[in-house]
Amino acid sequence: MDGLQGVLKGQKIAYFSMEIGLSSEIPTYAGGLGILAGDTIRSAADLNIPLVAVTLVSNKGYFRQILDSSGNQVEHTEEWNPARFMTLLSEEVSVKIQNRDVKIKAWLYNYKSLTGGCVPIIFLDTDVEGNYWEDRRITDFLYGGDQRYRLKQEIVLGIGGVRMLDALGFKLRKYHMNEGHSSLLGLELLRCNGTDPLKVKELCIFTTHTPVEAGHDKFDYGLVEDLIQDKNCVDILRRFGGTDRFNTSLFALNLSNYVNGVTKRHSLISSELFPGYKIQAITNGVHSYTWTSPYFRKLYDRYLPGWANEPELLVRIDGIPDTDIWEAHWNAKRALIDEVNKRTGVGMDYETLTIGFARRMTAYKRANLVLSDLEMLKKINRLGKIQLIFAGKAHPNDGAGKQLIRDIFKNIGILREEIKIVFLENYDMDLASKMVSGVDLWLNTPTRPYEASGTSGMKAAHNGVVNFSVLDGWWIEGWIEGVTGWAIGPQPEEKLSEEDAKAAELSDLYNKLYYVIIPMYYNRKDEWIKLINNSIGMIAYYFNSHRMMRRYVTHAYL
Ligand SMILES: *Cc1c(COP(=O)(O)O)cnc(C)c1O
Repeated sequence: MDGLQGVLKGQKIAYFSMEIGLSSEIPTYAGGLGILAGDTIRSAADLNIPLVAVTLVSNKGYFRQILDSSGNQVEHTEEWNPARFMTLLSEEVSVKIQNRDVKIKAWLYNYKSLTGGCVPIIFLDTDVEGNYWEDRRITDFLYGGDQRYRLKQEIVLGIGGVRMLDALGFKLRKYHMNEGHSSLLGLELLRCNGTDPLKVKELCIFTTHTPVEAGHDKFDYGLVEDLIQDKNCVDILRRFGGTDRFNTSLFALNLSNYVNGVTKRHSLISSELFPGYKIQAITNGVHSYTWTSPYFRKLYDRYLPGWANEPELLVRIDGIPDTDIWEAHWNAKRALIDEVNKRTGVGMDYETLTIGFARRMTAYKRANLVLSDLEMLKKINRLGKIQLIFAGKAHPNDGAGKQLIRDIFKNIGILREEIKIVFLENYDMDLASKMVSGVDLWLNTPTRPYEASGTSGMKAAHNGVVNFSVLDGWWIEGWIEGVTGWAIGPQPEEKLSEEDAKAAELSDLYNKLYYVIIPMYYNRKDEWIKLINNSIGMIAYYFNSHRMMRRYVTHAYL
């Protein structure tokens, strides 16, 4: 593994993210935010965009999920060894926490693209000899612990990250904050720039991911003052980050010249949350090559050479014979069904319309919405058989999320004799790849407007898996009814109470399954294949991270 010399050349964009999803073997991600960071890095490397990424090493991972027979989630630490993948660098920096110097070391991972591009990733680690025992644990658990633990992590990521990049000799033109977790980098940049906010704003880019007020990270000033004992610093946080509590998003907003939401809808909603700020939109995308199954990769390679580094070519999908498309889908489906049967012994088959739902288990994602009316589901299943595959982790402190898993387990039991449903353990990138490529229909039922973007449906589209989703996040931009998939519930501009919206959603969910989706799947395969083609040619060609990164370059980085 080579060290720093090769990656120091030229001015770079520093990309900060609390989580990064590189592979299942490096478990430093919890969900879409981390996957987006990983896809950002992969596309930047492919496109030779000069990026350096910074994150925490999280060497005890997020967690490994075990589920008992009632769907109770047990969390195990997922310890991994950075030395297997990365080089420990000799440079050390420190930050002050509670007036103690906390030393930080760094691991270097060079992400290399086949195009010759490379993105170095710096993993910060406080497990340094000489640090107070408690401080050695700061970079152990992704999103672990309480507010105090989180703020310590944010100090290490934001302030420590800027210092480390400087110590390593990186020359930086911009600092890009992926969500507010890293916004304390603004404090360090103010210190280095004579406390001139105009200079710092020139340097900073902030991407917000949270469409609701309560979702934004906030810390009591009592806690802030305890951890950051420098009075000048706390005054600066008050001045730019809110007077009653320290709001990381507000701090990032006030110190960034370029701010964006992750879909058009989300940037509108963010503008309402933060009146007076200009919030642009760069709609998320996924890394095409990473999220395309081997079966479709082979097909695209044959008919659309160059597609992986130029996903726009997928617009020419209609040039590929339907039989080849169906065969690629069939092979991906077989691989998934085999995996499901191996894991669960439930005996799913290849012919049945298979519906997938996998994402973080948290209340607003409503994983159990489709199981609201079991009689209706049985009726649908009598018209044309269905089988369902679920997966997802609930955050260890998210009681409602854990309850969702138990609810699904209970319903799996009730429906056992009639409908095959499984909940697969330990959702990670590998399982995500298999699911988004191997089902027929990708279901998404968030409560509006909580889904800022969502990206798993874009992965599905790359594999010709058809989306069936509530009109929220990216789907508002990807959806053409009956052409690219189907909508569940009201139009985005319709303002309904949550109760009325839910009624409309349930009615669409069941009616479209019964009257539209099942008849087409079982009786009009040619029309279904047209939807597969449109998913690839009208969704995947656009909702990819190559397009997204080109936008970041021209709108934010230059
Ligand atoms: C893509 C992905 C997500 C994000 O899915 P959403 O539908 O955007 O919530 C979460 N976890 C894993 C492992 C993923 O691959």
